[in-house]
Amino acid sequence: MTVETDSPASNSEGAGERELFRSFVALLVGRGSRKGAWEMLKGAGLVEVSLKTFYAQVRKDGFETIANAMFVGDKVPLIRELVANPPPIPPRRVAVSTLANQYYCEMQVHLGTKHDVRVTSAELAAGNEGHARLEAEAEPITEEEVTRRIEVGEKMGLVELGLAGEVEGVPLIGRADRVQLEGARARLLLEWKFSGRRDLYPTHVVQVEAYGKLLHTSGFDTSELVHAVAVIPRGGPRPENLAETMAKRAAEIANVAPWGERRVPTNSQMPDPIAGLGVRRLDSNAFTLFVFPHNANAAERDVSWALGYWKGSRAPSHTTSPSRCRACPYNAAKLCDVALSPSDGRYRVREMTTRDGETVHLLIANGR
Ligand code: SF4
Repeated sequence: MTVETDSPASNSEGAGERELFRSFVALLVGRGSRKGAWEMLKGAGLVEVSLKTFYAQVRKDGFETIANAMFVGDKVPLIRELVANPPPIPPRRVAVSTLANQYYCEMQVHLGTKHDVRVTSAELAAGNEGHARLEAEAEPITEEEVTRRIEVGEKMGLVELGLAGEVEGVPLIGRADRVQLEGARARLLLEWKFSGRRDLYPTHVVQVEAYGKLLHTSGFDTSELVHAVAVIPRGGPRPENLAETMAKRAAEIANVAPWGERRVPTNSQMPDPIAGLGVRRLDSNAFTLFVFPHNANAAERDVSWALGYWKGSRAPSHTTSPSRCRACPYNAAKLCDVALSPSDGRYRVREMTTRDGETVHLLIANGR
C-alpha cells in the first residue's frame, strides 16, 4: 500500500493515516538536512540505501515522494513509532573550514546556513584540481597500519587526515591536508592554499589552529607542533613530489632556531589571529611557505570566539571591508541586508526551485 502524493491516503485508511503521512514528511524535512534525515531513517530501520544514493533520490524526487515510497505495509508501524518518538536532532557539526571562514565574514557563514548558494568558478575548479594532484602523491594506507605505526613511534606523513572532536559542546569535523607524525607526537601540520596572492590570512591561521586543537583532543601530543601554510600560485610550476618537498622545507625552517614566546591577549571581540604571530617565510617559484608554532592559548581564543556564534551566544558579525562585499556571492544573490557596497557583477545568478520548494541560487563566475 502506498500513499499518493496528491491524495495522501485512501478513504478506507482514513484521516489518521493521512495525518501520519504528513507528520512523517514534516519530520524528514525538519531534520534540517538530507544527511540528518538519512541518519534518522537508518536508525529506525527504514532505509538501506547509502547516504549518497539517498542524497540523489531526494534531490531528484523530493522528500514527499521518498516518504510515499516508504509508506508501505510492514514499514507503517515503524513510521508510526518514529513519528511518536523521534530521536533528538543531534547538535550541528561545524566544519573547520567554516569556522575559519568566520574570520573572513561571519555573515557569509550565517547566510550559508539559511540559503542554498552554489558557486562555480575557475578558481574553485583549479583549487580542487591542485588538491587532487597533491593527494595523488600519497600511497593508500589502512587504519590498522596507521595505528601500528603510531604505537611503535614511527615517523610518517598522513594526507587528508580526517579529524573530529567536540569543543565547548560543538562537534567539529575537518580534513587536514597533511600531518607529519612521530608516533603519537604531531610535529607538522601542512595546509595547501591555491591562490594568486602569496599572503597569510587570519582564515589560514584559524584553520590550522583548529586542526591542532582537534589533534590534541584526539590524543596526539601537540606541544611541539608547527603549522605550515603553503600558498601555491595558480598556473605556477608543479614539480614532482611537491607535497613531500614542502613538508621537508617547512620542517627545516621550523628547526633553524627556537621559537620565541607569544603573548596571547584574550578578547571578547573578534580576535586577530595574526597579531604577534612569529612567522617564518620561504619563497620559491612553486610555493610560499608560512611557518609558525602551534600555540594552544591562541587556538583556544580564536576557536572559542568562532564557536560563540554556533552556541547562540551572540549574533553573527560581519566584515567591515567593502571590497569583500563587492566580491561576495550572497551580495550578488541579493541575500545580504548589511552589504557595505554593491556587487561588482562578477557572478551570473540563476535561481531554481527544488521539488521540496527550496530555492537554490546558482552563481557562475563570469569568464567561465
Ligand atoms: S555582502 Fe558583505 S557583509 Fe554581507 S555576507 Fe557578503 S561579505 Fe559579508
